[in-house]
Amino acid sequence: MKEVYKNFIGGKWVEAKSKKIFENRNPADWGDVIGIFPASGHDDLAKAVEAAKKGFEIWRRVPPPKRGLIIQKAGEILLERKEEIAKLMTREMGKILDETRGDIQEAVDTALYMAGEGRRLFGVTTTSELPNKTCMAIRTPIGVAGIISPWNFPIAIPAWKIFPALICGNAVVFKPASDAPAVATIFVETLLEAGVPESAINLVYGSGSEVGMSIAKHPDVKVVSFTGSSETGKYLAEICGKALKRLSLEMGGKNAQIVMDDADVDLAVDGAVWGGFGTTGQRCTATSRVILHKKIHDEFLDRLVERAKKIRIGNGLKPDTQMGPLINEVQLKKVERYVEIGIKEGAKLACGGKRYIKGECSKGFFFEPTIFTDVKPNYRIAQEEIFGPVVSAIKIANLDEAIAVLNGTQYGLSSSIYTKDVGKAFYAIKEINAGITYVNAPTIGAETHLPFGGTKNTGNGHRESGFWVLDTYSEWKAVYIDYSGTLQRAQIDTYKKEG
Ligand code: NAP
Repeated sequence: MKEVYKNFIGGKWVEAKSKKIFENRNPADWGDVIGIFPASGHDDLAKAVEAAKKGFEIWRRVPPPKRGLIIQKAGEILLERKEEIAKLMTREMGKILDETRGDIQEAVDTALYMAGEGRRLFGVTTTSELPNKTCMAIRTPIGVAGIISPWNFPIAIPAWKIFPALICGNAVVFKPASDAPAVATIFVETLLEAGVPESAINLVYGSGSEVGMSIAKHPDVKVVSFTGSSETGKYLAEICGKALKRLSLEMGGKNAQIVMDDADVDLAVDGAVWGGFGTTGQRCTATSRVILHKKIHDEFLDRLVERAKKIRIGNGLKPDTQMGPLINEVQLKKVERYVEIGIKEGAKLACGGKRYIKGECSKGFFFEPTIFTDVKPNYRIAQEEIFGPVVSAIKIANLDEAIAVLNGTQYGLSSSIYTKDVGKAFYAIKEINAGITYVNAPTIGAETHLPFGGTKNTGNGHRESGFWVLDTYSEWKAVYIDYSGTLQRAQIDTYKKEG
């Protein structure tokens, strides 16, 4: 029997008002239906916002340390249910169990970090230019936060957004991605069990063009946090910009790993295999370009190609699988199209390049690990986000050229350099234009207490994770306390000449 999922609005699990539904299937085995979900519309979203406004009035009055305890409890429940959630997540979006476990662990780590923020949420106390007066800056909640998340990290990314939104005292309306909707229900159950007031968390399933768009347009959603493609993000920026609404955007990447001539080549190959083919290349931080010094170029590629050919492709639920499927047929076709484009542009296909249909894999959207060599920095395969297991190799002669190539795209999310020379490493850290730089490590592997986000078309200046994310979900208030008992005028009395 198909599992039937519902929206959670105003404390009740409900169908879409229209009764419309959509189905979600396993990308590794298209016959496996995960469940049916409400295909909600604007009316459902509006109800959720009404509920969240009420929830906000309750939740914002809960002292932050108490909010922290509730969030900590949510983290503990996620940890207890890790294995169950990981299996469901692998079924719904395909990545292997080690990675779905990691996805949940990232949510747990975020919960514990944000629980601590409940006892910090530091503001600033400062002096006044006037006597017997003191000043401070404090964080205040904003209101209803609209959360729009992608399918590739179905728990970690919602957790990155929802835990900080809650610790700051906001209520939440959450629209998960339609390609990985099931674990969102578990996430909401977890929050409720931990003690988040029912109306402070609302879940609305449905398409981006209906529910996502309605979140952006609704006047009572005061802050929107979105992770997804740059195309959608730009669209949301127009809508939220016109409404003067706060919007945090985390979008695409075209991340590169530089390998210098003095690098530990084995280590760099390990990094490229994990960065390029982990999550089937469907991470915003995936290594889609390797920028190789000419002296190690051939040696590195020989080893990388050998390793890529050995990657065990299959259903992520099987313990020996190393790479799962692409998320859906559209994504599979997109990757196929980019392979054709690469070949037409003049790149050489060193391995892969086609759909993988051996045995049970014919039931899903599997694709071979693919490596292009002889790629020029301006080729479309080296410029555009493919979001699949495709790595393009570019040869360079020196560090400045490597950095110029790395910086030469519209994106600025993650980057990496392999070198044993500390001077080269620091020079690269300074010159690379990206939100994240790894030294002797792959482009993937962010930790939850550091800022996450990118420059250029990857973001709009906000950061997720760590304490930096609190700026997205809180408003700064300046407080002046005058205990002089007289009228004191800033900028005037301070500079008044005596006598
Ligand atoms: P997407 O198509 O932009 O979708 C992301 C979310 O936005 C989904 O919930 C989607 O709903 C919703 N959406 C789609 N169209 C919308 C619209 N017109 N208005 C409002 N919401 C809308 O992206 P995706 O294909 O799921 O994810 C892949 C992209 O995410 C890649 O570009 C990747 O680089 C990026 N990403 C970035 C980060 C980061 O932190 N920088 C992390 C992970 C992924 P539906 O699912 O219903 O369509």
